Amino acid sequence: MGRITWNLHSLSNKGTVGNVTEPRTLTLADRSKTDGISDEMLKHIHVETLWALENNKKNLCSACQVLKPERANACEEVTKEATLKAVKIALQCELCDLHGFLLERPVFARESTIEFGWQ
Ligand SMILES: [Zn+2]
Repeated sequence: MGRITWNLHSLSNKGTVGNVTEPRTLTLADRSKTDGISDEMLKHIHVETLWALENNKKNLCSACQVLKPERANACEEVTKEATLKAVKIALQCELCDLHGFLLERPVFARESTIEFGWQ
């Protein structure tokens, strides 16, 4: 038998409104409230898990090979191209394709193709 301890408060930040951080709060079966893991943290965990499962990191863009959070925006091979070619190159990376990216040059935003959240 094992035991796991989660520091849920550290994983619960949903976002900020002004200078106030909004924690993700869960209501348990006994109606008590506790901190929960935010959807952004679930997405982060998903990225790291896919990265760990990829045996050949060369299948990822140069930024995702080293888990840079900027993804395609940190790849010179992407940012030196015009929009259409840049997006085509970025979409060859499974992490960029699945989790989305935001390019500053050329300006382009790709939404995540998978959603993380609570019901
Ligand atoms: Zn990538």
